[in-house]
Amino acid sequence: MIDKYPVRLLIGTGYPILEKIRCAERLFRVYGRELLSDRTIQSLHETYRQAIQQSWVQMKRIGLVAECTDCAVNDGGSCCGRGIEDRFDVILLLINLLMGCSLPSSPWDETGCWFLGERGCGIPARHVICVNYICKRLDSKLEKNGLRLLQEKIVCETDAGFALEESIKKWLGNKGF
Ligand code: SF4
Repeated sequence: MIDKYPVRLLIGTGYPILEKIRCAERLFRVYGRELLSDRTIQSLHETYRQAIQQSWVQMKRIGLVAECTDCAVNDGGSCCGRGIEDRFDVILLLINLLMGCSLPSSPWDETGCWFLGERGCGIPARHVICVNYICKRLDSKLEKNGLRLLQEKIVCETDAGFALEESIKKWLGNKGF
């Protein structure tokens, strides 16, 4: 059982990231299996997983991944700055755990986002702010039609993520959270 978990932690973002990660991990330990066997959540989880995959396929196809790697490696750039992790709430962290990803207990790079690893972002379910961001360099270098198609994939990804988050909140609400 999880006792007296503040509901604010579930929906708010104003807590230290480690506290939110611990809360998500406890929810996952107690309810993970049950959540993953719920038919509605299963289906939304699968839709979201596929939408994420489709976004990545398109990002690679149009050269976005290569461009970001070149920027990070050769120009010292990274959009994944420290503090972006504070935008995450417990539900999105829980979704990452449900997707089989473990969450770090400390950042790999003190100046970067908590979830940034040696090889880029280390989590599958990213915040909408990460998914939507196209910098000026990408906008000027990448082919417009490819970017437009990527935007379509991104809309599918963020819509699917939102639907899953809402469903999990409702599910937990029925458990008294
Ligand atoms: S893409 Fe990943 S590493 Fe980068 S800011 Fe978003 S969550 Fe952090």
